[in-house]
Amino acid sequence: MNMRQSTSSFGHSLRRTIVTGGAGFIGSHLCDSLLQRGDEVICIDNLYTGSIRNIRPLLNHPHFQFIEHDVRIPLRIEGEIDRIYNLACPASPCHYQRDPIGTMKTCVVGTISTLELALQKSARFLQASTSEVYGDPEIHPQPESYVGHVNPIGPRACYDEGKRAAEAVIFDYHRLHGLEIKVARIFNTYGPRMLENDGRVVSNFIVQALRGEPITVYGSGKQTRSFCFIDDLIRGLDLLMESPASITGPVNLGNPQEMTIEAIAREVLARTKSKSRLRFEPLPVDDPKRRKPTIDAAKKILGWRPEVPIEKGIEATVAYFALRLATREPETKRPTRGRPGQSERAWLAVTSQ
Ligand code: NAD
Ligand code: UDP
Repeated sequence: MNMRQSTSSFGHSLRRTIVTGGAGFIGSHLCDSLLQRGDEVICIDNLYTGSIRNIRPLLNHPHFQFIEHDVRIPLRIEGEIDRIYNLACPASPCHYQRDPIGTMKTCVVGTISTLELALQKSARFLQASTSEVYGDPEIHPQPESYVGHVNPIGPRACYDEGKRAAEAVIFDYHRLHGLEIKVARIFNTYGPRMLENDGRVVSNFIVQALRGEPITVYGSGKQTRSFCFIDDLIRGLDLLMESPASITGPVNLGNPQEMTIEAIAREVLARTKSKSRLRFEPLPVDDPKRRKPTIDAAKKILGWRPEVPIEKGIEATVAYFALRLATREPETKRPTRGRPGQSERAWLAVTSQ
């Protein structure tokens, strides 16, 4: 383990951790959790789908630094680094398909530049991989041993194949250079801080229900997903990162409670007490028909299982979006609130270069 030996003002040693994609939905919750347990956190994000709003409360934290940077460009960071969580990548189909070549480069080139940094710093590297590596699965539920069923030339391929290539190169860095790696295959995760226009199903349905707009169900609504609340996922990522070095994964992290998309729509309508009606729209190309993780490995190796039931998770997410839609806080690309702290000055220094 490469623990940095500097000490905080509270007298305990600080671990220095990078989170790429740290201004995004999952990344910002991860930054919160790492700071809470005493890490020094460097958040790297190009704000493609991330938002300053997600990390604004952290900007004046003495152990938090935000660097606006695109991971496709090699990264130089002063000092030692102990841990790197590689989350940088748009995750919602409409956003990763908006710039498919850019998405593929983020997955592959971005991961390689982040791996190079990990190698240079002897840092442990955790990859946010995805259930999309299984594509439209032919076996159900999906264990980690399943090699997948991905259409390599379809509109989802920039993400699915990009993430598969990322896994390949991560394991090569491990085999060739002995880099300590961890690969988490994350299944559909939802919660506060998804973008209003994120495009993924839970945030879409909640925003539509709260606005009294039609709920856009794609296809018949009989396709399934298994939804994991953000707090459960963050706990799983932490356990995986801190597991013994011999554990590389891939490890599925997801909630095995499988639901149809129509059932999710009904759950959202119940929790919002909305009168919105369902509007059926065409199913996107290559949309997987069923998805459910096998989590035996996570249970056995990490002692992890999801704890937040869907009703509670949806309730918390509805409460977040209700407040956000009511306050109509504008989307900003710049950290503007409060006096500039250390992190904001660092951000200004980087962006003014
Ligand atoms: P998100 O879109 O909210 O976050 C992604 C973050 O990465 C954003 O802040 C974005 O600005 C940043 N980013 C994108 N391209 C970048 C680049 N080239 N350089 C620097 N930053 C860049 O999505 P999320 O749901 O928080 O997903 C985070 C990670 O978890 C992604 O890697 C995603 O593939 C993975 N994942 C998420 C889910 C899920 O259900 N949420 C499921 C499987 C995997
Ligand atoms: N979906 C839907 N309406 C929406 C958004 C998504 O019916 O407004 C469907 C989508 O077709 C898919 C499922 O919900 O079958 C999950 O979609 P999402 O984009 O959230 O995640 P992914 O397809 O990547 O699992």
